[in-house]
Amino acid sequence: MKWRVPLSDVDFDQSEEQAVINVIQSKWLTMGERTQEFEEKFSQFTGVRYAFAVSNATVALHAACVSLGIGPGDEVIVPSLTFVATSNSILYTGADPVFAEVIGHHDLNVAPEDIEKRITTKTKAISVVHFAGYPCQMEKITQIAQKHNLAIIEDCAHGVGTYLHGKHVGGFGDVGCFSFFSNKNLSIGEGGMIVTNREDLAEKFRWLRSHGMTSLTWDRHKGHAYSYDVIGLGYNYRMDELRSALGISQLAKLVKNNQRRQEITEQYWRDLSGIGLTFPFQIAAGQSAYHILPILLPENVDRKTFIDSMRSQEVQTSIHYPPIHKFSFYQEKYPHISLPLTEEIAAREVTLPLYPGMTSSHIQIVVDAVKFSISQAVDRKIL
Ligand SMILES: *Cc1c(COP(=O)(O)O)cnc(C)c1O
Repeated sequence: MKWRVPLSDVDFDQSEEQAVINVIQSKWLTMGERTQEFEEKFSQFTGVRYAFAVSNATVALHAACVSLGIGPGDEVIVPSLTFVATSNSILYTGADPVFAEVIGHHDLNVAPEDIEKRITTKTKAISVVHFAGYPCQMEKITQIAQKHNLAIIEDCAHGVGTYLHGKHVGGFGDVGCFSFFSNKNLSIGEGGMIVTNREDLAEKFRWLRSHGMTSLTWDRHKGHAYSYDVIGLGYNYRMDELRSALGISQLAKLVKNNQRRQEITEQYWRDLSGIGLTFPFQIAAGQSAYHILPILLPENVDRKTFIDSMRSQEVQTSIHYPPIHKFSFYQEKYPHISLPLTEEIAAREVTLPLYPGMTSSHIQIVVDAVKFSISQAVDRKIL
């Protein structure tokens, strides 16, 4: 399918091309100087003390659970309105995800009050997602965690460049996990970053991502070590130099690109006002990374008709997200879960194209397509 406006697009130019060529010419392909530089720059950018580059955010989330000792019999409270990796990573450890509700139509982040209601003697941690790049209510969530002695994992896959009260997300909880997948604000194909301010956890991430080994190939190459021990069950969750080099180039563009995302978002809000749409996060605390642009359709608009109409105008849209507790795998494992607010909101959600390279004529195409598609889909709702 050829889209006039795709959902997202990467911002690559000669800087990324040259970065990759330099790695190829260096002949050092994994966990070397570029990875170290990427980690240092990411730690500086977020203001979080330790940063570990890993293969993707899913393994970052898994390593986060492992580092906190989460395992069989434990529960982790997590939103259902998120990507399935947020809760799959909990299941990998043998623990159970416990799903919590969103705040409401104007804020799709997890509701602190609902988190607190779901705490049991088995609860070990709270995993939050800064939805679409808008920060969660971290003061309340941190207070709840302290009161009940729980850890906090922040899924920051949408939040490279998200701040609350001037502090970057990922630094509020015990561990923050970032994604650099192709459609994220910082894209390198596949990749992720674990950040933490806790030295004890940082110590674990050093060996957890590399087979449990006490020294790296790189250290031995540099003559810093000649052998190694294995001190725990580790994984191969490492990052390669090619993607670290892409990450360094992409990080240099991030502030400018997030600013452009903000301008586009505000343009959409202006141009699409007065036609019955709800814009979550239009009033939100903190600084968003403006990762995606979610809208909620009016109640009398049929979503499938709307999306089909957008497609026929060659504008790509998406849904964020089908709630996790409604997937067959999760229904079989955890039947009878009901999250009425999440379900109602998720059924009305559509995500519009948003990427820094969008021009005003791209925005106009989407705006016109939305207005036309609403008129096509209104009162077509099959009840
Ligand atoms: C993309 C995403 C992930 C998974 O990231 P990968 O790097 O693809 O593993 C996890 N959580 C959320 C909310 C995401 O959007």
